[in-house]
Amino acid sequence: MILIHDFGVDLETYHELGKNNDFPMVEECPHCHAKHSLHRHGFYERNAITAEKEYRLLICRFRCSICFQTVSILPHFLLPYFQHTTRTIVQWLHDVLHQTGTNPSKRQLISFYLRRFIQTISWIYMYFASVKKSFGWERDTQQQACRSIGKIQQWGEERFVKESWGYLSTYFMAHCFGR
Ligand SMILES: [Zn+2]
Repeated sequence: MILIHDFGVDLETYHELGKNNDFPMVEECPHCHAKHSLHRHGFYERNAITAEKEYRLLICRFRCSICFQTVSILPHFLLPYFQHTTRTIVQWLHDVLHQTGTNPSKRQLISFYLRRFIQTISWIYMYFASVKKSFGWERDTQQQACRSIGKIQQWGEERFVKESWGYLSTYFMAHCFGR
């Protein structure tokens, strides 16, 4: 399982700090819900890619001594299973939706992100309504997608991901929307 956490630092600093980041304690197992401190269980490496640069980041893992399941703590500027940072993905979505020129070498990847994003727009709409920040619903999917991306950017991409995490048991850009 993946939990998202704001380490209070940006990508560059998180990368520099490596194992010295201020990793949180996990006081309840999200799998078996036992209330105890989970043990640190090493790190794994994963990519974090922006439009300019690629990083290898250390991701901290915990393990429950009761059910033996693991939990990873993902910094809030990343999305599970996506190598590009949230901000990069949202910027590309914005560019492709507003037709303001995208990197041709990334066309295929961006269309994948766009398809995934389109599947999430009603979830985004419902999330903002649930926190009393409703915005309008356009009948045209493309227009609604434009509105949604604008709302997310206005709110702050990373803040949006963190605050909407777990809403209706899912998260922004999760695969389950595609089912
Ligand atoms: Zn457990």
